[in-house]
Amino acid sequence: MLSTMQDVPLTVTRILRHGSTVHGTSQVITWTGDGAPQRRSFREIGERTAQLAHALRDDLGVTGDECVATFMWNNAEHVEAYYAVPCMGAVLHTLNLRLPADQLTWIVAHAADRVIIVNGSLLGLLAPLLPRMPGVEHIVVSGPGDRSLLADAHVRVHEYEELLAGKPTAYDWPELDERSAAAMCYTSGTTGDPKGVVYSHRSIYLHSMQVNMAQSMGLSDADTSLVVVPQFHVNAWGLPHATLMTGVNMLMPDRFLQPAPLAEMIETVRPTHAAAVPTIWQGLLAELTAKPRDVSSLGQVTIGGSACPASLMEAFDRLGMRVCHAWGMTETSPLGTIARPPAHAVGTDEEFGYRLTQGRFPASVEARLVGPGGEHLPWDGESAGELEVRGPWIAGSYYGGAGGENHRPADKFSEDGWLKTGDVGVISPDGFLTLTDRAKDVIKSGGEWISSVELENALMAHPDVAEAAVVAVPDDRWGERPLATVVLKEDATADYAALRDFLAGSVAKWQLPERWAIIPAVPKTSVGKFDKKVLRRQYADGDLD
Ligand code: ADP
Repeated sequence: MLSTMQDVPLTVTRILRHGSTVHGTSQVITWTGDGAPQRRSFREIGERTAQLAHALRDDLGVTGDECVATFMWNNAEHVEAYYAVPCMGAVLHTLNLRLPADQLTWIVAHAADRVIIVNGSLLGLLAPLLPRMPGVEHIVVSGPGDRSLLADAHVRVHEYEELLAGKPTAYDWPELDERSAAAMCYTSGTTGDPKGVVYSHRSIYLHSMQVNMAQSMGLSDADTSLVVVPQFHVNAWGLPHATLMTGVNMLMPDRFLQPAPLAEMIETVRPTHAAAVPTIWQGLLAELTAKPRDVSSLGQVTIGGSACPASLMEAFDRLGMRVCHAWGMTETSPLGTIARPPAHAVGTDEEFGYRLTQGRFPASVEARLVGPGGEHLPWDGESAGELEVRGPWIAGSYYGGAGGENHRPADKFSEDGWLKTGDVGVISPDGFLTLTDRAKDVIKSGGEWISSVELENALMAHPDVAEAAVVAVPDDRWGERPLATVVLKEDATADYAALRDFLAGSVAKWQLPERWAIIPAVPKTSVGKFDKKVLRRQYADGDLD
Protein backbone atom coordinates (compact mmCIF):
# COMPACT_ATOMS: atom_id res chain seq x y z
CA MET A 1 0.00 0.00 0.00
CA LEU A 2 1.31 3.45 -0.81
CA SER A 3 1.04 6.12 1.84
CA THR A 4 -1.31 9.05 1.47
CA MET A 5 1.38 11.59 2.33
CA GLN A 6 2.58 14.38 0.05
CA ASP A 7 5.93 13.73 -1.59
CA VAL A 8 7.60 17.11 -1.12
CA PRO A 9 11.30 17.26 -2.04
CA LEU A 10 13.62 18.05 0.86
CA THR A 11 15.80 20.77 -0.63
CA VAL A 12 18.21 23.48 0.48
CA THR A 13 15.76 25.93 -1.16
CA ARG A 14 13.16 25.10 1.48
CA ILE A 15 15.70 25.90 4.20
CA LEU A 16 16.51 29.23 2.51
CA ARG A 17 12.83 30.23 2.11
CA HIS A 18 12.11 29.37 5.71
CA GLY A 19 15.20 31.02 7.20
CA SER A 20 14.93 34.26 5.25
CA THR A 21 11.24 34.79 6.13
CA VAL A 22 10.26 33.08 9.38
CA HIS A 23 13.69 33.85 10.89
CA GLY A 24 14.26 37.01 8.81
CA THR A 25 15.55 39.04 11.75
CA SER A 26 18.24 36.56 12.83
CA GLN A 27 21.71 37.61 11.76
CA VAL A 28 24.98 36.56 10.23
CA ILE A 29 27.59 38.57 12.12
CA THR A 30 30.99 38.69 10.39
CA TRP A 31 34.05 39.74 12.39
CA THR A 32 35.95 42.48 10.57
CA GLY A 33 38.87 42.89 12.94
CA ASP A 34 38.05 46.49 13.84
CA GLY A 35 35.63 45.84 16.70
CA ALA A 36 32.59 46.72 14.55
CA PRO A 37 31.38 43.45 13.04
CA GLN A 38 29.27 43.44 9.89
CA ARG A 39 25.68 42.42 10.67
CA ARG A 40 23.37 41.06 7.98
CA SER A 41 19.85 39.76 8.68
CA PHE A 42 18.67 36.43 7.28
CA ARG A 43 16.14 38.47 5.24
CA GLU A 44 19.00 40.43 3.62
CA ILE A 45 20.95 37.19 3.15
CA GLY A 46 17.90 35.81 1.29
CA GLU A 47 17.69 38.87 -0.96
CA ARG A 48 21.39 38.91 -1.71
CA THR A 49 21.31 35.16 -2.36
CA ALA A 50 18.74 35.84 -5.10
CA GLN A 51 20.94 38.62 -6.50
CA LEU A 52 23.98 36.34 -6.55
CA ALA A 53 22.02 33.64 -8.37
CA HIS A 54 20.94 36.17 -11.01
CA ALA A 55 24.56 37.30 -11.42
CA LEU A 56 25.89 33.76 -11.71
CA ARG A 57 23.28 32.86 -14.32
CA ASP A 58 23.06 36.10 -16.34
CA ASP A 59 26.59 37.54 -16.11
CA LEU A 60 28.70 34.40 -15.74
CA GLY A 61 26.55 31.92 -17.64
CA VAL A 62 26.24 29.31 -14.91
CA THR A 63 23.79 26.69 -16.11
CA GLY A 64 22.56 23.25 -15.15
CA ASP A 65 24.39 21.37 -12.43
CA GLU A 66 27.88 22.72 -13.01
CA CYS A 67 30.16 23.25 -10.01
CA VAL A 68 30.77 26.75 -8.69
CA ALA A 69 33.77 26.92 -6.39
CA THR A 70 34.42 29.06 -3.33
CA PHE A 71 37.83 29.91 -1.90
CA MET A 72 36.65 31.75 1.18
CA TRP A 73 36.73 32.20 4.94
CA ASN A 74 33.60 31.93 7.07
CA ASN A 75 31.57 35.09 6.39
CA ALA A 76 28.17 36.36 5.21
CA GLU A 77 29.13 36.25 1.52
CA HIS A 78 30.13 32.62 1.85
CA VAL A 79 26.70 31.91 3.38
CA GLU A 80 25.12 33.62 0.36
CA ALA A 81 27.08 31.34 -1.97
CA TYR A 82 26.03 28.35 0.19
CA TYR A 83 22.42 29.04 -0.82
CA ALA A 84 22.58 30.75 -4.24
CA VAL A 85 24.55 27.97 -5.91
CA PRO A 86 22.54 24.88 -4.86
CA CYS A 87 19.16 26.63 -4.95
CA MET A 88 19.67 27.61 -8.60
CA GLY A 89 20.44 23.96 -9.37
CA ALA A 90 24.24 24.19 -9.55
CA VAL A 91 26.71 22.53 -7.12
CA LEU A 92 28.62 24.45 -4.46
CA HIS A 93 32.22 23.29 -4.40
CA THR A 94 34.04 24.56 -1.32
CA LEU A 95 37.81 24.57 -1.82
CA ASN A 96 39.99 23.89 1.21
CA LEU A 97 42.39 26.82 1.06
CA ARG A 98 44.94 25.02 3.23
CA LEU A 99 45.53 22.18 0.81
CA PRO A 100 48.86 21.97 -1.02
CA ALA A 101 48.94 23.60 -4.48
CA ASP A 102 49.10 20.27 -6.32
CA GLN A 103 45.96 19.00 -4.67
CA LEU A 104 44.06 22.25 -5.21
CA THR A 105 44.84 22.37 -8.90
CA TRP A 106 43.97 18.68 -9.24
CA ILE A 107 40.63 19.18 -7.47
CA VAL A 108 39.65 22.25 -9.53
CA ALA A 109 40.33 20.32 -12.74
CA HIS A 110 38.50 17.21 -11.50
CA ALA A 111 35.39 19.20 -10.56
CA ALA A 112 35.66 21.23 -13.81
CA ASP A 113 35.29 24.49 -11.86
CA ARG A 114 34.77 27.43 -14.24
CA VAL A 115 33.89 30.05 -11.62
CA ILE A 116 35.65 30.68 -8.30
CA ILE A 117 34.29 33.11 -5.71
CA VAL A 118 37.23 34.25 -3.58
CA ASN A 119 37.86 36.54 -0.64
CA GLY A 120 40.19 39.40 -1.52
CA SER A 121 42.37 38.52 1.47
CA LEU A 122 43.06 35.13 -0.15
CA LEU A 123 44.19 36.38 -3.55
CA GLY A 124 47.81 35.99 -2.51
CA LEU A 125 47.15 32.24 -2.21
CA LEU A 126 44.93 31.76 -5.24
CA ALA A 127 46.50 34.04 -7.86
CA PRO A 128 49.79 32.09 -8.18
CA LEU A 129 47.78 28.89 -8.79
CA LEU A 130 45.62 30.28 -11.60
CA PRO A 131 48.12 29.57 -14.42
CA ARG A 132 47.71 25.89 -13.43
CA MET A 133 43.90 26.15 -13.57
CA PRO A 134 43.25 26.63 -17.28
CA GLY A 135 39.55 25.69 -17.02
CA VAL A 136 38.75 28.58 -14.67
CA GLU A 137 37.14 31.47 -16.59
CA HIS A 138 35.72 33.77 -13.90
CA ILE A 139 36.99 34.98 -10.56
CA VAL A 140 34.52 36.85 -8.35
CA VAL A 141 36.31 38.83 -5.63
CA SER A 142 34.66 39.73 -2.33
CA GLY A 143 36.05 41.95 0.43
CA PRO A 144 39.34 43.77 0.89
CA GLY A 145 42.49 42.54 -0.88
CA ASP A 146 45.02 43.39 -3.55
CA ARG A 147 43.28 42.97 -6.93
CA SER A 148 46.49 43.74 -8.81
CA LEU A 149 47.58 40.18 -8.01
CA LEU A 150 45.16 39.11 -10.75
CA ALA A 151 46.55 41.52 -13.35
CA ASP A 152 48.24 38.82 -15.45
CA ALA A 153 45.69 36.07 -14.96
CA HIS A 154 43.84 34.57 -17.93
CA VAL A 155 40.49 34.92 -16.12
CA ARG A 156 37.77 37.58 -16.15
CA VAL A 157 37.69 39.34 -12.79
CA HIS A 158 34.42 40.52 -11.21
CA GLU A 159 33.66 42.46 -8.06
CA TYR A 160 31.16 40.59 -5.88
CA GLU A 161 29.27 43.72 -4.82
CA GLU A 162 29.16 45.14 -8.34
CA LEU A 163 27.72 41.88 -9.67
CA LEU A 164 24.94 41.96 -7.10
CA ALA A 165 24.12 45.68 -7.39
CA GLY A 166 20.77 46.31 -9.06
CA LYS A 167 19.87 42.63 -9.50
CA PRO A 168 16.33 41.54 -8.47
CA THR A 169 16.08 40.50 -4.81
CA ALA A 170 13.84 37.55 -5.65
CA TYR A 171 14.60 34.51 -7.83
CA ASP A 172 12.27 31.99 -9.32
CA TRP A 173 14.05 29.02 -7.72
CA PRO A 174 13.58 25.81 -9.73
CA GLU A 175 11.86 22.81 -8.19
CA LEU A 176 14.74 20.36 -7.74
CA ASP A 177 14.98 16.63 -7.26
CA GLU A 178 15.94 16.11 -3.62
CA ARG A 179 18.49 13.50 -4.65
CA SER A 180 20.38 15.90 -6.92
CA ALA A 181 23.79 17.23 -5.96
CA ALA A 182 23.83 20.39 -3.83
CA ALA A 183 27.39 20.68 -2.56
CA MET A 184 30.71 18.91 -2.70
CA CYS A 185 33.85 18.70 -0.60
CA TYR A 186 37.04 16.76 -1.32
CA THR A 187 38.77 14.79 1.41
CA SER A 188 42.41 15.68 1.84
CA GLY A 189 44.49 13.24 -0.17
CA THR A 190 46.56 11.69 2.57
CA THR A 191 46.92 8.64 0.36
CA GLY A 192 46.50 9.04 -3.39
CA ASP A 193 44.33 11.67 -5.01
CA PRO A 194 41.67 13.54 -2.98
CA LYS A 195 38.19 12.06 -3.13
CA GLY A 196 35.07 14.06 -3.93
CA VAL A 197 32.09 13.65 -1.59
CA VAL A 198 28.89 15.05 -3.12
CA TYR A 199 26.05 15.96 -0.75
CA SER A 200 22.45 15.89 -1.99
CA HIS A 201 19.70 18.37 -1.12
CA ARG A 202 18.02 15.61 0.81
CA SER A 203 21.13 14.63 2.78
CA ILE A 204 21.76 18.25 3.77
CA TYR A 205 18.12 18.75 4.79
CA LEU A 206 17.98 15.63 6.96
CA HIS A 207 21.41 16.28 8.44
CA SER A 208 20.36 19.83 9.39
CA MET A 209 17.34 18.48 11.25
CA GLN A 210 19.62 16.14 13.17
CA VAL A 211 22.07 18.93 14.05
CA ASN A 212 19.14 20.88 15.50
CA MET A 213 17.74 18.10 17.65
CA ALA A 214 17.91 18.62 21.39
CA GLN A 215 20.05 15.48 21.61
CA SER A 216 22.53 17.02 19.17
CA MET A 217 23.41 20.72 19.27
CA GLY A 218 19.86 21.68 20.24
CA LEU A 219 20.17 25.37 19.35
CA SER A 220 17.33 27.88 18.93
CA ASP A 221 16.79 31.49 17.85
CA ALA A 222 17.91 32.54 21.34
CA ASP A 223 21.42 31.33 20.41
CA THR A 224 24.37 32.76 18.55
CA SER A 225 26.79 30.16 17.22
CA LEU A 226 30.46 31.00 16.71
CA VAL A 227 31.24 28.94 13.62
CA VAL A 228 35.02 28.45 13.75
CA VAL A 229 34.98 25.18 11.85
CA PRO A 230 35.64 26.27 8.27
CA GLN A 231 32.90 26.49 5.67
CA PHE A 232 35.41 24.89 3.32
CA HIS A 233 35.48 21.70 5.39
CA VAL A 234 32.36 19.49 5.51
CA ASN A 235 29.94 22.41 5.28
CA ALA A 236 31.14 23.84 8.60
CA TRP A 237 29.59 20.77 10.26
CA GLY A 238 26.24 21.69 8.72
CA LEU A 239 25.82 24.85 10.80
CA PRO A 240 25.13 27.30 7.93
CA HIS A 241 22.18 25.08 6.97
CA ALA A 242 20.94 24.09 10.43
CA THR A 243 20.94 27.70 11.66
CA LEU A 244 18.57 28.92 8.93
CA MET A 245 16.13 26.19 9.93
CA THR A 246 15.91 27.39 13.50
CA GLY A 247 16.96 31.06 13.36
CA VAL A 248 20.26 30.64 15.22
CA ASN A 249 22.47 33.69 14.69
CA MET A 250 25.88 32.90 13.23
CA LEU A 251 29.07 34.65 14.32
CA MET A 252 31.60 34.22 11.51
CA PRO A 253 35.31 34.82 12.29
CA ASP A 254 36.38 35.46 8.65
CA ARG A 255 40.21 35.35 8.62
CA PHE A 256 40.59 36.14 12.34
CA LEU A 257 41.17 32.60 13.58
CA GLN A 258 44.03 33.25 15.98
CA PRO A 259 43.35 32.84 19.73
CA ALA A 260 43.48 36.58 20.57
CA PRO A 261 40.81 37.77 18.08
CA LEU A 262 38.69 34.71 18.87
CA ALA A 263 38.74 35.66 22.55
CA GLU A 264 37.93 39.24 21.64
CA MET A 265 34.97 38.33 19.45
CA ILE A 266 33.56 36.05 22.15
CA GLU A 267 33.78 38.86 24.69
CA THR A 268 32.27 41.42 22.29
CA VAL A 269 29.49 39.52 20.49
CA ARG A 270 28.77 37.04 23.32
CA PRO A 271 27.95 33.88 21.36
CA THR A 272 26.24 31.09 23.31
CA HIS A 273 27.67 28.20 21.27
CA ALA A 274 30.83 27.49 19.33
CA ALA A 275 32.15 24.67 17.16
CA ALA A 276 35.77 23.81 16.31
CA VAL A 277 38.51 21.16 16.42
CA PRO A 278 40.51 20.65 19.67
CA THR A 279 43.61 22.52 18.47
CA ILE A 280 41.62 25.75 18.18
CA TRP A 281 40.38 25.33 21.74
CA GLN A 282 43.83 24.48 23.10
CA GLY A 283 45.02 27.77 21.62
CA LEU A 284 42.10 29.70 23.08
CA LEU A 285 42.67 28.15 26.48
CA ALA A 286 46.33 29.26 26.50
CA GLU A 287 45.21 32.75 25.46
CA LEU A 288 42.57 32.95 28.20
CA THR A 289 45.10 31.76 30.77
CA ALA A 290 47.56 34.47 29.72
CA LYS A 291 44.91 37.16 29.34
CA PRO A 292 41.57 36.41 31.02
CA ARG A 293 38.46 37.60 29.18
CA ASP A 294 34.75 37.40 29.82
CA VAL A 295 33.74 34.29 27.91
CA SER A 296 30.81 33.51 30.19
CA SER A 297 28.28 33.71 27.32
CA LEU A 298 29.64 30.48 25.80
CA GLY A 299 27.49 27.85 27.45
CA GLN A 300 28.08 25.07 24.94
CA VAL A 301 31.10 24.17 22.85
CA THR A 302 30.96 21.41 20.24
CA ILE A 303 34.34 19.74 19.78
CA GLY A 304 35.07 17.18 17.10
CA GLY A 305 37.41 16.36 14.25
CA SER A 306 39.86 14.66 16.59
CA ALA A 307 39.56 13.25 20.08
CA CYS A 308 38.90 15.79 22.81
CA PRO A 309 41.40 15.25 25.65
CA ALA A 310 39.87 15.00 29.15
CA SER A 311 42.16 17.80 30.30
CA LEU A 312 40.64 20.17 27.73
CA MET A 313 37.11 19.24 28.72
CA GLU A 314 37.89 19.79 32.41
CA ALA A 315 39.56 23.13 31.72
CA PHE A 316 36.53 24.30 29.74
CA ASP A 317 34.17 23.08 32.45
CA ARG A 318 36.07 25.22 34.95
CA LEU A 319 35.48 28.26 32.72
CA GLY A 320 31.76 27.48 32.56
CA MET A 321 31.87 26.29 28.94
CA ARG A 322 30.29 22.88 28.56
CA VAL A 323 32.00 20.74 25.97
CA CYS A 324 29.94 18.40 23.83
CA HIS A 325 32.13 15.90 22.00
CA ALA A 326 31.17 14.73 18.49
CA TRP A 327 32.60 12.42 15.83
CA GLY A 328 32.27 12.58 12.07
CA MET A 329 34.09 12.76 8.77
CA THR A 330 33.74 14.38 5.36
CA GLU A 331 31.89 11.28 4.17
CA THR A 332 29.34 11.53 7.03
CA SER A 333 28.22 15.15 6.43
CA PRO A 334 29.77 15.12 9.18
CA LEU A 335 27.54 14.34 12.17
CA GLY A 336 28.04 10.65 13.02
CA THR A 337 27.81 10.66 16.82
CA ILE A 338 27.42 13.27 19.53
CA ALA A 339 28.06 12.81 23.24
CA ARG A 340 24.98 13.91 25.15
CA PRO A 341 24.98 11.72 28.26
CA PRO A 342 21.81 9.70 28.83
CA ALA A 343 19.39 11.10 31.42
CA HIS A 344 20.19 8.43 34.01
CA ALA A 345 23.87 9.45 34.01
CA VAL A 346 23.39 13.21 34.33
CA GLY A 347 24.61 14.44 37.69
CA THR A 348 26.26 11.09 38.53
CA ASP A 349 29.86 9.87 38.46
CA GLU A 350 29.17 8.29 35.08
CA GLU A 351 28.40 11.56 33.35
CA PHE A 352 31.95 12.67 32.58
CA GLY A 353 32.82 9.24 31.14
CA TYR A 354 29.89 9.49 28.74
CA ARG A 355 30.91 13.00 27.69
CA LEU A 356 34.43 11.79 26.88
CA THR A 357 33.18 9.15 24.45
CA GLN A 358 32.78 10.16 20.80
CA GLY A 359 29.04 10.02 21.44
CA ARG A 360 25.83 8.23 20.63
CA PHE A 361 24.58 7.32 17.18
CA PRO A 362 21.42 9.14 16.14
CA ALA A 363 18.52 7.11 14.71
CA SER A 364 19.56 7.76 11.10
CA VAL A 365 23.14 6.53 11.45
CA GLU A 366 23.43 2.75 11.56
CA ALA A 367 26.73 1.41 12.86
CA ARG A 368 28.56 -1.89 13.05
CA LEU A 369 32.00 -3.00 14.19
CA VAL A 370 34.00 -5.33 12.01
CA GLY A 371 36.81 -7.52 13.35
CA PRO A 372 40.05 -8.46 11.58
CA GLY A 373 38.44 -11.53 9.94
CA GLY A 374 35.44 -9.57 8.68
CA GLU A 375 33.21 -10.78 11.54
CA HIS A 376 30.65 -8.43 13.10
CA LEU A 377 31.43 -7.69 16.75
CA PRO A 378 28.98 -7.17 19.60
CA TRP A 379 28.17 -3.78 21.13
CA ASP A 380 29.54 -4.78 24.52
CA GLY A 381 31.83 -1.84 25.19
CA GLU A 382 34.85 -4.17 24.92
CA SER A 383 35.11 -5.73 21.46
CA ALA A 384 37.21 -3.41 19.31
CA GLY A 385 36.85 -3.34 15.54
CA GLU A 386 36.68 -1.06 12.53
CA LEU A 387 33.59 1.12 12.49
CA GLU A 388 31.32 0.92 9.46
CA VAL A 389 28.27 3.18 9.04
CA ARG A 390 25.37 3.78 6.71
CA GLY A 391 22.52 6.25 6.58
CA PRO A 392 20.82 8.98 4.53
CA TRP A 393 23.67 11.50 5.00
CA ILE A 394 26.54 8.99 4.66
CA ALA A 395 28.46 8.82 1.35
CA GLY A 396 27.84 5.73 -0.77
CA SER A 397 30.52 6.49 -3.37
CA TYR A 398 33.06 9.11 -4.49
CA TYR A 399 32.66 11.59 -7.36
CA GLY A 400 34.01 10.35 -10.66
CA GLY A 401 34.65 13.78 -12.21
CA ALA A 402 32.88 15.39 -15.16
CA GLY A 403 31.74 12.57 -17.43
CA GLY A 404 33.26 9.91 -15.15
CA GLU A 405 31.55 7.22 -13.13
CA ASN A 406 31.25 7.60 -9.37
CA HIS A 407 33.36 4.93 -7.72
CA ARG A 408 33.35 2.77 -4.60
CA PRO A 409 36.91 1.69 -3.71
CA ALA A 410 36.94 -1.60 -1.82
CA ASP A 411 39.04 -0.15 1.03
CA LYS A 412 36.36 2.50 1.65
CA PHE A 413 33.09 0.66 1.08
CA SER A 414 31.99 -2.83 2.05
CA GLU A 415 30.48 -5.08 -0.57
CA ASP A 416 27.03 -4.38 0.85
CA GLY A 417 27.57 -0.61 0.62
CA TRP A 418 28.53 0.46 4.14
CA LEU A 419 31.18 3.16 4.58
CA LYS A 420 34.42 1.85 6.12
CA THR A 421 35.47 4.71 8.37
CA GLY A 422 39.05 3.60 9.04
CA ASP A 423 38.39 4.30 12.73
CA VAL A 424 38.83 1.61 15.37
CA GLY A 425 36.77 1.53 18.53
CA VAL A 426 34.14 -0.05 20.74
CA ILE A 427 30.41 0.58 21.09
CA SER A 428 28.52 0.26 24.38
CA PRO A 429 25.18 -1.56 24.56
CA ASP A 430 23.43 1.83 24.72
CA GLY A 431 25.05 3.00 21.47
CA PHE A 432 27.95 5.18 22.62
CA LEU A 433 31.06 5.01 20.47
CA THR A 434 34.56 5.16 21.97
CA LEU A 435 37.31 5.41 19.38
CA THR A 436 40.66 4.02 20.33
CA ASP A 437 42.47 5.05 17.17
CA ARG A 438 42.54 5.43 13.45
CA ALA A 439 43.34 2.07 11.92
CA LYS A 440 46.51 3.51 10.43
CA ASP A 441 47.70 5.15 13.68
CA VAL A 442 47.25 2.29 16.10
CA ILE A 443 50.60 0.95 17.45
CA LYS A 444 50.99 -2.79 17.00
CA SER A 445 53.42 -3.89 19.67
CA GLY A 446 54.18 -7.60 20.06
CA GLY A 447 50.72 -8.72 19.01
CA GLU A 448 48.96 -6.18 21.26
CA TRP A 449 47.47 -2.87 20.19
CA ILE A 450 48.41 0.37 21.88
CA SER A 451 46.06 3.30 21.39
CA SER A 452 48.03 6.41 20.42
CA VAL A 453 45.04 8.54 21.42
CA GLU A 454 44.95 7.09 24.94
CA LEU A 455 48.64 7.90 25.49
CA GLU A 456 48.17 11.41 24.05
CA ASN A 457 45.21 12.17 26.28
CA ALA A 458 47.00 10.89 29.35
CA LEU A 459 50.06 13.01 28.54
CA MET A 460 48.03 16.13 27.85
CA ALA A 461 46.67 15.92 31.39
CA HIS A 462 50.19 16.80 32.69
CA PRO A 463 50.25 20.48 33.69
CA ASP A 464 53.51 21.14 31.78
CA VAL A 465 52.27 19.66 28.51
CA ALA A 466 50.65 21.87 25.84
CA GLU A 467 50.28 19.15 23.19
CA ALA A 468 51.31 15.53 22.78
CA ALA A 469 51.23 13.28 19.74
CA VAL A 470 52.22 9.60 19.74
CA VAL A 471 53.23 7.65 16.64
CA ALA A 472 54.43 4.12 15.96
CA VAL A 473 58.10 3.56 15.17
CA PRO A 474 59.59 0.31 13.89
CA ASP A 475 61.13 -1.86 16.59
CA ASP A 476 63.25 -4.99 16.02
CA ARG A 477 61.84 -6.87 18.98
CA TRP A 478 58.19 -5.76 19.16
CA GLY A 479 57.44 -4.80 15.56
CA GLU A 480 56.34 -1.31 16.58
CA ARG A 481 56.70 0.80 19.71
CA PRO A 482 55.27 4.21 20.60
CA LEU A 483 57.27 7.40 20.17
CA ALA A 484 55.88 10.23 22.31
CA THR A 485 56.42 13.74 20.97
CA VAL A 486 55.58 16.50 23.41
CA VAL A 487 55.19 20.26 23.18
CA LEU A 488 55.90 21.82 26.58
CA LYS A 489 54.22 24.93 27.91
CA GLU A 490 56.32 28.03 28.47
CA ASP A 491 58.42 27.82 31.67
CA ALA A 492 57.74 24.08 31.94
CA THR A 493 60.29 22.02 33.84
CA ALA A 494 59.20 18.43 33.21
CA ASP A 495 61.75 16.09 31.64
CA TYR A 496 61.28 12.71 29.96
CA ALA A 497 61.60 10.79 33.22
CA ALA A 498 58.96 12.95 34.90
CA LEU A 499 56.60 12.54 31.95
CA ARG A 500 57.12 8.79 31.86
CA ASP A 501 56.41 8.55 35.62
CA PHE A 502 53.27 10.60 35.15
CA LEU A 503 52.09 8.39 32.32
CA ALA A 504 52.74 5.28 34.40
CA GLY A 505 49.92 6.44 36.66
CA SER A 506 47.30 5.90 33.97
CA VAL A 507 48.49 3.33 31.41
CA ALA A 508 49.88 -0.21 31.62
CA LYS A 509 53.65 -0.44 32.01
CA TRP A 510 54.19 -2.30 28.73
CA GLN A 511 52.55 0.60 26.88
CA LEU A 512 54.98 3.23 28.23
CA PRO A 513 57.03 4.75 25.42
CA GLU A 514 60.80 4.28 25.50
CA ARG A 515 61.30 6.92 22.86
CA TRP A 516 60.58 10.59 23.52
CA ALA A 517 61.05 13.90 21.81
CA ILE A 518 60.35 17.43 23.01
CA ILE A 519 59.32 19.31 19.89
CA PRO A 520 58.46 22.96 19.21
CA ALA A 521 55.01 22.25 17.67
CA VAL A 522 52.98 19.29 16.45
CA PRO A 523 52.66 19.54 12.66
CA LYS A 524 48.99 19.99 11.64
CA THR A 525 46.96 18.94 8.61
CA SER A 526 44.98 21.38 6.45
CA VAL A 527 42.11 21.21 8.92
CA GLY A 528 44.14 21.52 12.11
CA LYS A 529 44.53 17.87 13.10
CA PHE A 530 47.82 16.27 14.20
CA ASP A 531 49.66 15.29 11.03
CA LYS A 532 51.14 11.97 12.06
CA LYS A 533 52.53 11.25 8.64
CA VAL A 534 54.78 14.32 8.89
CA LEU A 535 55.63 13.51 12.51
CA ARG A 536 56.73 10.01 11.58
CA ARG A 537 58.87 11.41 8.78
CA GLN A 538 60.42 14.11 10.97
CA TYR A 539 61.03 12.28 14.22
CA ALA A 540 60.61 8.55 13.90
CA ASP A 541 63.92 7.86 12.20
CA GLY A 542 66.46 9.36 14.61
CA ASP A 543 67.72 8.00 17.94
CA LEU A 544 65.66 9.91 20.44
CA ASP A 545 66.25 8.24 23.76
P1 ADP B 1 40.64 13.94 7.16
O1 ADP B 1 40.57 12.46 6.86
O2 ADP B 1 41.25 14.76 6.13
O3 ADP B 1 41.13 14.24 8.57
P2 ADP B 1 37.94 14.28 8.00
O4 ADP B 1 37.69 15.59 8.60
O5 ADP B 1 36.88 13.68 7.19
O6 ADP B 1 39.15 14.41 7.11
O7 ADP B 1 38.41 13.32 9.17
C1 ADP B 1 37.59 12.36 9.71
C2 ADP B 1 38.36 11.61 10.76
O8 ADP B 1 38.68 12.45 11.86
C3 ADP B 1 37.60 10.47 11.37
O9 ADP B 1 37.63 9.34 10.55
C4 ADP B 1 38.33 10.28 12.68
O10 ADP B 1 39.51 9.52 12.52
C5 ADP B 1 38.73 11.68 13.05
N1 ADP B 1 37.77 12.22 14.04
C6 ADP B 1 36.75 13.03 13.83
N2 ADP B 1 36.12 13.33 14.98
C7 ADP B 1 36.78 12.67 15.96
C8 ADP B 1 36.62 12.56 17.39
N3 ADP B 1 35.68 13.21 18.04
N4 ADP B 1 37.49 11.77 18.05
C9 ADP B 1 38.46 11.10 17.40
N5 ADP B 1 38.68 11.18 16.08
C10 ADP B 1 37.84 11.95 15.36
